[in-house]
Amino acid sequence: MILDELTAFSNFYGSNEELVLAGGGNTSAKDGNVMYVKASGTQLATITPDGFVAMDRAKLAETLTKAYPNEDDARESAVLADLNNARLPGQGSKRPSVETVLHSLFEQKYVLHLHPSLVNGLTCSRQGRAAAQKLLRRPFIWVDACKPGYVLSKICADELARFKAETGSPCEIVLLQNHGVFVASETVDGLGELLNEVLASFRAAVVREPDFSTGAFDGEKAEKCFAAIRKIYGEDCVITYEPSVEALRFAETPDAAQRVMRPFTPDHIVYCKQYQAYGFCDGCLPGAVQKCLEEHGYRPKIIIISGCGYFAVDETAKGSQTAAALFDDAMKIAAYAESFGGELPMSEELADFIANWEVESYRQKLHEGEA
Ligand SMILES: [Zn+2]
Repeated sequence: MILDELTAFSNFYGSNEELVLAGGGNTSAKDGNVMYVKASGTQLATITPDGFVAMDRAKLAETLTKAYPNEDDARESAVLADLNNARLPGQGSKRPSVETVLHSLFEQKYVLHLHPSLVNGLTCSRQGRAAAQKLLRRPFIWVDACKPGYVLSKICADELARFKAETGSPCEIVLLQNHGVFVASETVDGLGELLNEVLASFRAAVVREPDFSTGAFDGEKAEKCFAAIRKIYGEDCVITYEPSVEALRFAETPDAAQRVMRPFTPDHIVYCKQYQAYGFCDGCLPGAVQKCLEEHGYRPKIIIISGCGYFAVDETAKGSQTAAALFDDAMKIAAYAESFGGELPMSEELADFIANWEVESYRQKLHEGEA
């Protein structure tokens, strides 16, 4: 029963691409001490009851009082082992979402966690916190950018407890800087009302909507770029070409491109990688790709070319299209952030942590069908 409800609202929100891209976002529902949460690597749009993992909430709560190593890798693998141990018997190899402990912290029955471009236009902006305070009519919690997973859960445990002590009721909205939003309610309808309230209040403050109609691109140069990319990545590579007004705007100069070349959220790192290449033409494209390879150890998935827009390159059609969807998302965020004091990317330190985090590379592998 509760699993059917959870599946239905997960599919509903998951199939709205204004709200969910690729494997982003997660949902949960509680039934006493048991919580059903989205398994890592599943997608909200297509998830079935079998895609949720049944968790023991008492065991999840124990992780918050346990002493873990300070070192990132040691801590994350110890936490992952405890998360797996908190699964109820019979869950097979399903791996609970990295945000499972945080879901369990909410005392409300239903929790919806999304990374919508519009919301992140605010959470990835310089004045996001102040703007949210002005725009939202009900009290909420703002969490500054931090390492996702365990570190985020610990911070939220303190913040949610403080909120309850101060206001007398449980928090319904948590905004995570450079990440997304959590809403929590006793009813499924309540989730929708909260989410709509957040979206409508942010939308009302947006001064410029991004434009994804096709712009005036240099077709001849683009053809030459296609050939240059195939020569480097191989004839079998899949290229998604995006000459939208927005892509052309950000491709115009290196400074404009810089605004979208640093990741805003973990999704950008997972699907577009941490670094992209920028060039003025097909002539300097190979050098820009080579520079990324030498400095970071991989060829970029996104190549931005002045006058053309950008090219998303991958071995598979799915990988190429998803990288393009997430790079469009980064441009949307940068455009929306203009309404909130300008964009604010993740710190290099945080981006490095996520890029090297085993849990996120697991998410990427599942998306590619390798794990
Ligand atoms: Zn998230």
